[in-house]
Amino acid sequence: MPATPTANCLNIVMAASEAVPYAKTGGLADVVGALPLELIRHGHRVSLVLPGYRNFAAERQFGKTAARFRIPTMGVTAEVTLEEEIVPITVGLHPLRVLAVRYNPYFDRSGLYQDQLGDYPDNLDRFVLFCRAVLETVRFLADVRGEVVDLLHLHDWQTALCAVYLKTLALKGTELRSLKTLLTLHNVGYQGVFPGEEFAKTDLAPALFSPSGLEFFGSINCLKGGIIFSDSVSTVSPTYAKEIMTKEFGCGLEGVLASRGEELRGITNGVDVTAWNPGTDPYLPAHYNVADLSGKQVCKRRLQQELGLPNLDVPLLAVIGRLTPQKGFDLLGEIIPELMALDVQIAMLGTGDRSMEQQFLAAQARHPDRIGLCIGFDEGLAHRIEAGADMLVMPSRYEPCGLSQLYSLRYGTVPIVRRTGGLADTVIPFRPSTAQGKRATGFHFVDASADALLSTILLALQVYREHDTWHLLQQAGMKTDVSWTQATEQYVRLYRSVIEKDRNVAREC
Ligand code: ADP
Repeated sequence: MPATPTANCLNIVMAASEAVPYAKTGGLADVVGALPLELIRHGHRVSLVLPGYRNFAAERQFGKTAARFRIPTMGVTAEVTLEEEIVPITVGLHPLRVLAVRYNPYFDRSGLYQDQLGDYPDNLDRFVLFCRAVLETVRFLADVRGEVVDLLHLHDWQTALCAVYLKTLALKGTELRSLKTLLTLHNVGYQGVFPGEEFAKTDLAPALFSPSGLEFFGSINCLKGGIIFSDSVSTVSPTYAKEIMTKEFGCGLEGVLASRGEELRGITNGVDVTAWNPGTDPYLPAHYNVADLSGKQVCKRRLQQELGLPNLDVPLLAVIGRLTPQKGFDLLGEIIPELMALDVQIAMLGTGDRSMEQQFLAAQARHPDRIGLCIGFDEGLAHRIEAGADMLVMPSRYEPCGLSQLYSLRYGTVPIVRRTGGLADTVIPFRPSTAQGKRATGFHFVDASADALLSTILLALQVYREHDTWHLLQQAGMKTDVSWTQATEQYVRLYRSVIEKDRNVAREC
């Protein structure tokens, strides 16, 4: 998409706790890595603000200090530096500006949010500081760089407090008060909940610690604050946008979300179609495209070797993702005996709950020639599994958007998904009895049960044996537009409507 004239150019500051290629634990990083580039390709200006984690290596050009801030926190003043990297974008009028908030006591750590012992106990302090630094960054862009920032796009609980600070008395009288905010919810299951006794750390007015503010059953809830105080709220698929206003999916925030219901927009994520392209992917041993899938067979054989599986011509099922109850992989764990009675292999990559890791390690030990398992985070292997597998299983209990199934579509790997959230929106289900088979791109099941998953896998295995039908499914998936183009246009429309709308509620205390 070529860049458009600058007259309509928006100046967006995007703040997030992770972004590819800098730091990643999940899909949030893919989205925040790709959306700024697409916005720039559409002619807009974007500055991306991230915490300066330990792995922000010198090779990435960081180190140039753009600014220093002194941010008062509980009792001490934090000396924060803002480091800048300018990333040239080939198609686009502006480079991407990445700004890292460097404060080593908080961000020079082995993990982003946790280590082996669990969540860092000072996560509230860390992201309070980050949010305040984001606002200082906007002020710096205005005062020093002379830029008018049109909108601050926030992502998830780690940045949600920015919206609260902007709309409370703490900043009254400054130019920041007119700054509009959009908060995108990537997963309502993660809310940034901390003990109520720590509220003073936020430096917010005590009155905000109330049920109509950030209080949530006696605790602080950062995401709730963001939902109430941001100018607009979006999430990452239309179905998830509806789901989170219900008790089943709202994780306790359904009422707060419903109060913003009319404005709560669902914009389905795209994927980075350059990084995820089976025709050019540097992680793959062979390349292929929709017209010639022969390279996929090579990828399958090499993947089998890499995972210690015999080179057999049997269906290879893939599982990639965080091993958490949300992802429903425990349902898969329940049907391992039934699957092992069939002629299939499983390629699995994930990390998460120790008990689930142990369960799959034990299954692999019992069936070493049928289950290839890697416990850990391995970007290259994720690409090779997407390419080498025949089917991807995503039995999520809930799924805001899901990216792995989008990569699967692109790689001719047929997704088997639970009909929820973005999975429902992005995979067109195969129905044996209707002509829809021609447009279908995968398989759906409805009940979050092992039986429903098993019967859908059995259906997929049956269709797999009908080579022509299977090929149609693969081709339909590979031809699906999963690029960021549509989503970017929707975000730009949403940005404009937020910028133009009058703030109708004075959410001050
Ligand atoms: P979520 O953000 O809920 O974890 P998504 O499906 O939206 O789930 O995104 C997951 C992203 O993280 C995908 O890009 C997937 O390939 C990647 N991913 C998940 N687990 C791993 C892993 N163990 N190793 C490499 N990549 C992983």
